[in-house]
Formats: sequence, C-alpha cells, structure tokens
Amino acid sequence: MTKFLPLGKFSFGMGDRFGHQGKAQLQACVKATELGAEVVPVWNKSNREHAFIGTEPSSLRAEADAAVKTLGWKKSYHVDADHIRLETVDRFISPSDFFTIDVADSIAKPAAAKDVKAFVEGHPELIGKISIPHISHPFAITRVEVERVANKFLLAVQDAGKIYRHIVKAKGAANFITEVSMDETDSPQTPPELLIILAALSDEKIPIQTIAPKFTGRFNKGVDYVGDVKQFEKEFNEDLAVIAFAIKKYGLPASLKLSVHSGSDKFSIYETMRKALKKFKAGVHIKTAGTTWLEELIGLAEAGGDGLEIAKEIYAYAIGHVDEFCAPYASVIDIDKKKLPPAATVNGWSSKQFVSALRHDQKNPAFNPSFRQWLRVIVKVAAKKGKRYLNALKKHEAVIARNVTENLFERHMKPLLLGK
Ligand SMILES: [Zn+2]
Repeated sequence: MTKFLPLGKFSFGMGDRFGHQGKAQLQACVKATELGAEVVPVWNKSNREHAFIGTEPSSLRAEADAAVKTLGWKKSYHVDADHIRLETVDRFISPSDFFTIDVADSIAKPAAAKDVKAFVEGHPELIGKISIPHISHPFAITRVEVERVANKFLLAVQDAGKIYRHIVKAKGAANFITEVSMDETDSPQTPPELLIILAALSDEKIPIQTIAPKFTGRFNKGVDYVGDVKQFEKEFNEDLAVIAFAIKKYGLPASLKLSVHSGSDKFSIYETMRKALKKFKAGVHIKTAGTTWLEELIGLAEAGGDGLEIAKEIYAYAIGHVDEFCAPYASVIDIDKKKLPPAATVNGWSSKQFVSALRHDQKNPAFNPSFRQWLRVIVKVAAKKGKRYLNALKKHEAVIARNVTENLFERHMKPLLLGK
C-alpha cells in the first residue's frame, strides 16, 4: 500500500484564530488522556481563516510546537492545512503534516464520460445486493445508480487525487495525513454513496485516513445539532459500517475514520456517536474551530473591566452590519435577528449577563443561541482591533485559558469519548 503518516484513533481538530490558546487547548487533551481517552491534538486553520486574521500557515506550526514544548506533550500531534485546494495548498506544505483536501466545489460537476464508464465497468461488485456487516438491509444498488453517483462525485475524487499527488511530490507520501472533505455542499451523502466514493478514492490510490461527509441535519456553527437525531444515528452507524467494510474491500488504511466538521457544540448527538464508535471499535476526528474564539470572548467578558469593554465594543460594531457578516455563513447559521439585543442593551450588561448569554449552557435560561452564533461569525471585527485585542488576550490569559480548556474537555471530549 501507499505510504502515509498514521493518525491515532481519536483526534481533535482545534482551531485558534489568534494563535494564543494552543496551550489551553492542549491542556484539554492532557486531561482526557489522563482519564484514559487518548486524544491526538490537531491544530487546524483554513486558508480563509488565515486571510481573515492576516496570518501565515507557519504561525500555526509555531504555536503547536510551542504548546507541545511548554506542556511536555510526548505523544503525537499534527498541524492541519484545513480545506485546501490546488490553488491554495503551496504555502501550507512545509508547516503542515495533515491536509484536508476540499473537493466540495467539484461535486455534481461531471467527470469525463469515458472515466465514468471505466469506473462503473471496473466495479461490478458495487452493482446488485451488497451485504455489509451491521447494516440490517443489504444495499441494492443498480448500475444506473452507480453511474449517477459517479457522475456526481468522480470529478471531485479525481481532483482529490491531483491535489494529493501534488503534496506527495513536495513532501513525500510518508510525511502526512490525508483527509478528504465533502461537507461544504448542499445535500448529505448517503451511506451507499459513501461506499462508492471510497471505492473511487482507492482507485486514485489516496491513503485516506479521514473523510468528512456532509451528514444529515444542520451542523450550525457554535450551537447544537438541529435535525432528526434518530435519522442521524442510523446514518452515522451505517457510515461506520461502510468504512469498516471499505477498508477491507479496497485496502484502504486501517486507520480510516469519519471526520465531523463543525463538530463542536453538537451536544445532543455526542452520546449517539459515542455508542456507535464503541460498537464499531471505531475512531473519529472531531473538527472544531470557532468554539475556542467564543471562549476567548467569554473569558474577556468574565474578566470584566477592559476585557468586558472590548467584548462589548466588538458586539456593538458588528450589530450595525448584520447582513454583511451573515451572508457568507448562510448555510451554517440560523440566527433569529429579533433575538439580537441592541448595542445599548449589551453595553449596560454586567460580566455575568454577557457570559450567560454567550456560554453554551443549555440549562441557563439566559443563554441566547442567536447571540452566540452571531458572535461566532464576527471574528473579523476582533481582528481589526489588532494589537489592542491581542494585548487583552495576554492580559486576561488565565481566565480565558480556563474557559478554553474547560469547554473542550468538559463539554466535548468527556461526553464524546468518556461518557458523562
Ligand atoms: Zn469543513
């Protein structure tokens, strides 16, 4: 098989917009590992996120290395070039050892007719009844269906192959982990589609270790899952069954697992996921990012004084530009604008009021999911504050770090990996 850098069973993707929370994030992994859930830390940042903040991919590597050194972390850790494409990957190649190849833009664009034909003819095993362990009804896939799926996904898979080989050339196959992401698209991929996609990925000889499909339901940024939990459970279990099957059938890496993007804060499905992972003895990659930026704001607000003041300023500025900030996130937020308090109201809030509205504590009647999602998408406003914002992060480091660690460990790793 093609060489690759192996990825551990449970891994946590952690985004950190301003590069100050690496230690606090790693501390959550230390705590989980001490309790028996070995978590591999992965720091991720996309091209868009770097552009928003004005950082270079090498800064994420520097942050990860520094956190690991300070805390004396002896196990593996990785730096993820998140959602890269051929035109954006180059400056990520040297500092990254994990690449999330985003091919969502090529979904539903047809591949060459001869390639589709060759794929269908090369995979007679995909046509007919396919019995997969732990899936109660065998898949019944017709030739027409394989063709339809190939027409929808083959070009995306070929693109992934091109990007993968580009990275191999520059870095060497043994030196990185490959994820393929298809989450940023309109419709979820069904388990039979996932099987066909994995067959195509194996044809491209991509030693894929994580795949990020789009799941059923809404994975809004920074808030809980919205959708049919039963349906999610069925599909998540079937996806795990398909992956276990495809690893054997197509010789894919034994470490291949699902990657859940916008994976933070999905409290209502963590128990479902934990049980399914246990049943299949499967690993998972959870990708989080903005949840840490929200903890920075919570920490600043909790600190009071100039910390609270800057949090209020960020809110007050952004509230004048609601539509402009929401537009790029339309498919991943559900904000009820009527629930966003006017700036004058927020300016009069105490630390406790600001924190209660923002912290993701569903039992707190003052928690406001619209307020939380809103602050989730306006990170740019903090970036514009430049040094003043960064200095506030330094000044209030202790209270922010406590919130960052607690959020990742108590609300994410514990329910997902350890059970409550
Ligand atoms: Zn994603």
